[in-house]
Amino acid sequence: MRKAILAAAALVAVVAIFLLATLPPEPAHLALDANDPGLVARTMAGAYHVHTTRSDGAADKREVAAAAARAGLQFVIITDHGDGTREPDPPEYLHGVLCIDAVEISTNGGHYVALGLPAAPYPLAGDAAAVVEDVARLGGFGIAAHPHHPTHGLAWDDWSAPVDGIEWINADVEWRNESPPRLARALFDYLVRPAPALASVFDRPEETLERWASLLRSRAVVALAAADAHGGARASSLDEGGSRFALGPSYEASFSVVVNKVLLGAPPSGNAVNDASAIIESIRSGRVYTVIRGIADGLVLVPGATGGLRFPEQVPPGVVVREIGTAPRQAWEAAHPNAAGHPPVPWAVANPTVPPTERVPPLPGTAPLGLPLRLRSPWRVEKDPRSSGQLSEGPGGFRLTYALAEGERVSQFVAAAVDVSLPALSGLAFSASAERPMRLSVQLRFPAEGERWVKSVYIDQYPRDLILRTSDLAPAERADSQLPDLTRAGSLLFVVDLTNAKPGARGGFHISGLRILEQSPAAQR
Ligand SMILES: [Zn+2]
Ligand SMILES: [Zn+2]
Repeated sequence: MRKAILAAAALVAVVAIFLLATLPPEPAHLALDANDPGLVARTMAGAYHVHTTRSDGAADKREVAAAAARAGLQFVIITDHGDGTREPDPPEYLHGVLCIDAVEISTNGGHYVALGLPAAPYPLAGDAAAVVEDVARLGGFGIAAHPHHPTHGLAWDDWSAPVDGIEWINADVEWRNESPPRLARALFDYLVRPAPALASVFDRPEETLERWASLLRSRAVVALAAADAHGGARASSLDEGGSRFALGPSYEASFSVVVNKVLLGAPPSGNAVNDASAIIESIRSGRVYTVIRGIADGLVLVPGATGGLRFPEQVPPGVVVREIGTAPRQAWEAAHPNAAGHPPVPWAVANPTVPPTERVPPLPGTAPLGLPLRLRSPWRVEKDPRSSGQLSEGPGGFRLTYALAEGERVSQFVAAAVDVSLPALSGLAFSASAERPMRLSVQLRFPAEGERWVKSVYIDQYPRDLILRTSDLAPAERADSQLPDLTRAGSLLFVVDLTNAKPGARGGFHISGLRILEQSPAAQR
């Protein structure tokens, strides 16, 4: 019996010695005194993509700031889940850490994080391209979240929409493709050396980096590293994966493994509002880079001749710098010999500078043309039983006043509908305005197929000419269905529903000059 205990104890000791001897290395620290102090003063390190108790995080903003301070950060960008209608908290320094409020929006094409977004006039949701358009119009900076997330519906997948930024890595996704033994090992390592243990499950996100390079061919897109920190044990939201309880690294560990560093025009002033807008401006213009601190810390990039950021003269031993994309939008990554992963995760990733001309994506153009739309019925109101709508037809159009029923969400909607017979068309053109900013869903209903195909448009007090291309229509019912022959469409609807309005919402909009854009002869053949 005693022998058995001794043997077991010896085995445990051998395993413990083995595990301790094979821990991931402590992060290397670069010689900071080699850096220009002026440059260090203008460089701020922070965490981007952080959840608090406002959505599915484990702690409130104050505790998150305290963890960031312990991890040596100067700012955190908090991105709780929301629809953009909440007025963002003003920036504030807590525990010496600048807290910047932002929002992570769920769309049909995945999660989209918006920085610098004022309160939206209606819920941002639905079609991914519509949310990208709204964030841009409202002056926000939008980032495609976790493109390589294994859960369909969370991963961003609409690459035709003009996103401003992309998460090249997301720390909450990286562990998900590791084998159970690898995770068990990482868990042991985490208890001894948290940041290197987390970095040891990072791989190089091949597809996402390739995607970024291909986007850079046509325009500047800023790559950021997402901590996606939720902080230890917490109740998880159903939106983020289904389980009711979730475990993860502590905030401090998340903040110690990866940072985004921004280069400001001047050292931070201590004024939270000014410093926050300087940080967001640096992100917009690409003066931001990632350092995986769990591998090595202390990297400070220097401004290059063309305004971009480059490595300091002395590259640490074994580090290899590789270019991503081609001029003029040249990004790069640095490989470090201590990086783990298959293939090894880049230690640092830097952005190209974004010229101001490439910052605001172009909004859909005007110039409506085409033939008048032939209607087969008068306009009518369609709605759920408790909501109300009033329609008045006028010359060349109609006006709809709506009031969605108050209370619970029970698929409230109010629509103006008309029966149509369409030729082979490539799009619809019309003029539209609304009492207040809103997003209107334009729908074609196919009675034989029992399907609706939809696309939302933004309208406000200023009448505007809009073009809706049939190629932009998305199925409302089954995501995998094929767009039916458009000549089979039975009705056209302009719908207000809970995608972009809340129960109790009321207002009115006006549509006129409906025309059809014919298919080009080439497309008809
Ligand atoms: Zn997300
Ligand atoms: Zn998130």
